[in-house]
Amino acid sequence: MLDYTAPEQLLKNRVILITGAGDGIGRAAALDCARLGATVILLGRTIEKLEAVYDDIERAGHGQPAIYPLDLSTATDENYIELAQVLEGEFGSLDGLVHNASILGQRTPISNYESRTWQLVMQVNVTAPFMMTQALLPLLETSNDASIIFTSSSVGAQGKAYWGAYSVSKFATEGMAQVLSEETENTSKIRVNIINPGATRTNMRAQAYPGEDPGLNLAPEDIMPTYQYLLGPDSTGVTGQRFNAQEMSK
Ligand code: NDP
Repeated sequence: MLDYTAPEQLLKNRVILITGAGDGIGRAAALDCARLGATVILLGRTIEKLEAVYDDIERAGHGQPAIYPLDLSTATDENYIELAQVLEGEFGSLDGLVHNASILGQRTPISNYESRTWQLVMQVNVTAPFMMTQALLPLLETSNDASIIFTSSSVGAQGKAYWGAYSVSKFATEGMAQVLSEETENTSKIRVNIINPGATRTNMRAQAYPGEDPGLNLAPEDIMPTYQYLLGPDSTGVTGQRFNAQEMSK
């Protein structure tokens, strides 16, 4: 959805949490949401990276963000309950939740895949977003216009050799988003949608395609219109949909 143009201050008065906000697409989304007026909660595992994004937002003169360090590979139910309590205490409500953080795992045949790596990928990419969503649903319910975004991939809709747990985790992510969107459709104002970012110039892309010229791919900043649309009021009532961030709207 490259052709959406966000009005200035689209996200004013919205509190938006982004996972994996220290780098790549999450970093770009954090800066962009802050530029459009949101209060952004930067969640991730590497504090220095989160601090650098925090500083960039402050330097640009946008609203003060918050940093929430959390390692999704080890976080427990108690950690997510605490997250919900802290957010409720600090902000009172939550209007946007962007499940962006993921890991790639191994690029190897299933026959060769290490089960420990498999479990780690499923933990970070699937189980952590499930636990976080469950803990934050009550807070999202307090918003008049809450939006949850799950991040998939082309290999989350069509399996591909050697993509192992990552591909399977993205199928699971899409399933989770579909289940949750049906469960909330008639009972809640929360909308739940999926973004497939498409090939984007980040560390993960370089790790997956080491021989590729990074200049061939769009930068994270270029794919922000779909995030803007889904986090702002123009998508109110849109739920259970899958968006390719690098396509035009139909
Ligand atoms: P990056 O690897 O550049 O960034 C991933 C972010 O997730 C980093 O900030 C990373 O933190 C964070 N993260 C990883 N593990 C954990 C953890 N255990 N706890 C907390 N945070 C963690 O990836 P991209 O920006 O490329 O990808 C963003 C999303 O887009 C992912 O869901 C990915 O699957 C998806 N995607 C990306 C595509 C692309 O071409 N780039 C294509 C299709 C989908 P840290 O920096 O500290 O490691």
